[in-house]
Amino acid sequence: MALNDGFGLCRRVHYLLRMATVLLVEDDHVVRGAMLRSLADRGHAVHAVGTALDALRRVAAETPDLVVLDLGLPDLDGSDALRMLRGITDVPIIIATARDDEQTVVRLLRAGADDYMVKPFTGAHLDARITTVLRRVGRASRAAQPAVHEVGELRVDVGERSAALGDQQLNLTRKEFDLLAYLAARPGRVVSRRELLEEVWRQPSVGEDQTIDVHLYWLRRKLGESAAKPRYLRTVRGVGFRLVAPD
Ligand code: CA
Repeated sequence: MALNDGFGLCRRVHYLLRMATVLLVEDDHVVRGAMLRSLADRGHAVHAVGTALDALRRVAAETPDLVVLDLGLPDLDGSDALRMLRGITDVPIIIATARDDEQTVVRLLRAGADDYMVKPFTGAHLDARITTVLRRVGRASRAAQPAVHEVGELRVDVGERSAALGDQQLNLTRKEFDLLAYLAARPGRVVSRRELLEEVWRQPSVGEDQTIDVHLYWLRRKLGESAAKPRYLRTVRGVGFRLVAPD
């Protein structure tokens, strides 16, 4: 009996530690049922919806810990659904897709997906990805102790997710802010493209350098500078970038 209680307690603690509230967006009843059962068996609280609009409504009403988003939904194209979700929340999103061409994957990661899985996959695999994404997000938010980085007249408030140049607030996208905050936390240090891809974009280097270039272009514009006339954002040719206070 005592042994049983002990095991029961272990299971409960295990359950409490790992349980996540997952919003499952999937229109296929069979797939949805199987995923629901499988995730519930692994201790997650799962809500399922079958359309992108229901997903948006649900996320706006009560933020889940994580969203698993099917790309092929009846009402909206999956990448539009992703963009709309990203417009209202930073909740981690794992894409479930039947397409695995690199272009699609890169586009989705760029549009704010945290991870993706190619169908068909097992419940165990999805559970492992969920755990990994949540661990990563948890680590990121712990690492992001409310910090303010000041470089020259540039002020980046990580806690508030706001940035200002002098008394001018900068209107940055999520990734532009992440990029600026990452560089501002390491003033003067040269940061490689590979490091940015891994730490800011959370993807291994797959030769997707344009992503960084596009974001740097906009960031530079918003900082009132350009690659030809840099002030804060310096390119170190063939190596990477660094953020410095202008002379
Ligand atoms: Ca579908």
